[in-house]
Amino acid sequence: MEDRKQSPPHVLIFPFPIQGHVNSMLKLAELLVLAGLKVTFINSDHNHDRLVRFTDVVARFAKYPSFQFRTVPDGLPDDHPRAGDMVTEIFDGLIVKTKPALRDLLVVIRPPVDCIIGDGILGFVLDVGQELKIPVIQFRTISSCCFWVYYVIPDLIEAGVIPISGNEDMDRLVKVVPGMESFLRIRDLPSFCQTKNIEDSSLQNVAMATRKSSRAHALIFNTFEDLEGPILSHIRTECPKIYTIGPLHAQLKTRLPEDQKNKASSESSNSLWAVDRSCISWLDQQEKQSVIYVSFGSITVMTREQLIEIWYGLVNSKRRFLWIVRPDSVVGHGGEDIPQELIEGTKERGYLVDWAPQEEVLAHWAIGGFLTHSGWNSTLESLVAGVPMICWPYFADQQVNSRYVGEVWKLGLDMKDVCDRNVVERMVNDIMEEKREEFVKSAREMAKLAKESVSVGGSSYCNLDRLIEDIRLMSLNM
Ligand code: UDP
Repeated sequence: MEDRKQSPPHVLIFPFPIQGHVNSMLKLAELLVLAGLKVTFINSDHNHDRLVRFTDVVARFAKYPSFQFRTVPDGLPDDHPRAGDMVTEIFDGLIVKTKPALRDLLVVIRPPVDCIIGDGILGFVLDVGQELKIPVIQFRTISSCCFWVYYVIPDLIEAGVIPISGNEDMDRLVKVVPGMESFLRIRDLPSFCQTKNIEDSSLQNVAMATRKSSRAHALIFNTFEDLEGPILSHIRTECPKIYTIGPLHAQLKTRLPEDQKNKASSESSNSLWAVDRSCISWLDQQEKQSVIYVSFGSITVMTREQLIEIWYGLVNSKRRFLWIVRPDSVVGHGGEDIPQELIEGTKERGYLVDWAPQEEVLAHWAIGGFLTHSGWNSTLESLVAGVPMICWPYFADQQVNSRYVGEVWKLGLDMKDVCDRNVVERMVNDIMEEKREEFVKSAREMAKLAKESVSVGGSSYCNLDRLIEDIRLMSLNM
């Protein structure tokens, strides 16, 4: 017993197995091993193979003897797309295959686990922890503002906001989400809430998993107090113990040893796709803040019509653009030929790759704006880099995030449900020139606050220390 108390606490980290979740939770894992904790990180077999293939993750973590990866099945066939609508199928696989595998692992792993940091979208991790008497801290990879909307889903149903009727005025204010009464419209509700059927499994899953959070030992958010303080006050009335420790990619940079700091953005990629670095050489040849970066993350899919509308908007804007088009991101067929004018316009001013080192791209001096799907990692990465955004949300928390970017934080424009070449063209020109000054001003101010929060003495910096202390105390009581 005495020995156990002298050894560092053992934390098991379990993310939902998709890019954004794995990325931010691996950053937390690295922060915890840097603080001297022992960490076991659970990857799905599928993701682990890809991480090993496309990154230096094995070498990078090999320098931490107290870190280990363990893998579990995600219950899906290897060729399952794990993107678009089909991402929700991961939940089913996890319940059937992964939950028992996780339980078995927790029973045999040595030294025993003192604390689980589980992805908050996976409510079953709490049940497994409770059964085995291991405390669970939940990590939410989404924004706190979206978490809060998920939390009040029962109130939205009670008030008759959900289900959404066929002839709903999408601009109507929702009014029943505390703290968002004056700006949250029906169209800003998370995609899972925009359903005509209250039995919808995605709606029920997020509602149930989120309500369970009040049973967790604590909640971690990848955010900072200056960004989401007002909403966090509401959440604290239901879940009092909250650690806001983000933006995690910036916090990791602060805490890495000096000789590794500069490598952080280029080499700390946790990508599940092969990174094409040729775009950095292309950016090196461009003028300062002249390029609009376009990326819709790891899950968004679009129709061919949407692809063409965005493409025309970019080409017609006459701006330079770097566009990430994942090979699996365009669905449907029809009219296979790309119009010649798009090909010519792209040759002149554009550059397309499958996957980029995004943190590094956003920090590049040639980038002037970001057309994004408003995934939470992308939003934070843009915010830290002080880059204004145009938001074209796809699903989950992205509808709420984009409303906050446009209306609350004033960091850019929210294109929302529109996908029209003229709107894209106008918004790109607004961000890059017409309204640039106002957005750059607020983006710079927010970037400054973000960086302060992860600097020594800043709110997120201190909260991470408190979290680590909490885990140490917890392990002494095990
Ligand atoms: N990303 C990247 N290269 C790309 C596109 C995305 O490294 O070409 C990273 C991006 O930096 C972010 C993550 O993938 O950390 C996407 O997470 P996010 O939460 O923004 O969106 P999701 O993919 O979960 O929809």
